[in-house]
Amino acid sequence: MRTIRPLSPDVVSKIAAGEVIERPGSAVKELLENSLDAGAGSIIVDVAEGGRDLVRIVDDGHGIPREELPLAVAAHATSKLIGADDLFRIRSFGFRGEALNAIAGVSDFTIRSRPEEQEVGALLEVHHGHPDDVRDTACPRGTQIEIRNLFASVPVRRKFLKSKQTEFGHVAEAMIRTALANPDVGFRLVHNERVVHDRPRTASLRETIGVFFGDRLADKLVPIDAERDGIRLHGFVGDPSLDRPNSRGQYLFVNRRYIRDRSLSHAISEAFRGLLMTGRYPVAFLFFEMPSDQVDVNVHPTKIEVRFENPHQMYSHLLASIRNEFLSSDLTATLRAPA
Ligand code: ADP
Ligand code: MG
Repeated sequence: MRTIRPLSPDVVSKIAAGEVIERPGSAVKELLENSLDAGAGSIIVDVAEGGRDLVRIVDDGHGIPREELPLAVAAHATSKLIGADDLFRIRSFGFRGEALNAIAGVSDFTIRSRPEEQEVGALLEVHHGHPDDVRDTACPRGTQIEIRNLFASVPVRRKFLKSKQTEFGHVAEAMIRTALANPDVGFRLVHNERVVHDRPRTASLRETIGVFFGDRLADKLVPIDAERDGIRLHGFVGDPSLDRPNSRGQYLFVNRRYIRDRSLSHAISEAFRGLLMTGRYPVAFLFFEMPSDQVDVNVHPTKIEVRFENPHQMYSHLLASIRNEFLSSDLTATLRAPA
């Protein structure tokens, strides 16, 4: 006989962890978003062996009160969402209250935190889902999280991790996406004790792109800034000479969230039609700012896919804005001139 039984919380958290946390890079994405939600002005990401051995994130945000530390790592506990109505006007990056729980369920996890008004910091260790008691610790204002032995308790997942270079690539990518969208926050990335990226706060978008992709690329960007029906689109597209063999040079953001969207990628390619050879893709760094009730970010656990109230409007806004900017820049004049 088969009996229906509720899953144990341990199993539930391992399943949830699988959805949110695939690899060290996805843990870094979640932790960066938490630091931003906490109003951090500077964030340091420090990893060892591509994040397979250690991921550490240090921020100077508002911290977590000592008595709330156990809740921070509990399942479905969040300080960011109260009722279902809030789901449609989300301003914070997080809201599902599952990232810390998921990560702590599959790693040796340590969180240290101290809000400004609390004199002594507090520390909580969780070993693959089993929390210790909260202890006192010395800690600057803010939050520090360390993840060791990620997936040691889920061997199938550990096995699927790639080489440390590949995993580090994903960590760096998570950091770059976040830094692009948050120019007013400082980001530093350290790998095996070597500083790989250091982006000071108050860098402009073009400077940020220069830090991560080199000045040669940053110098060849065409600015885009257009508003339509209350939706602002701004950022840069690359001069056609920067074309790439794939669409990985395209960064799209909605309300500061990095997203992937086939239809919008297609609009970018359409805008460049005739300027690039087939099979070549333009470089783009584009940001939509729009009312949060016109976009549903609650579609996917990692929030990388969103649903627009009016996808056609987004498509044509993107296409027309790039085209118009091209028409008014010298660039196309040169390109269109007969050889
Ligand atoms: P969510 O971000 O969806 O709320 P998380 O599991 O990522 O869920 O975090 C749970 C809670 O822990 C957050 O709602 C927040 O209150 C707290 N928290 C997590 N990281 C930080 C941080 N770096 N600084 C301050 N508070 C944090
Ligand atoms: Mg979060």
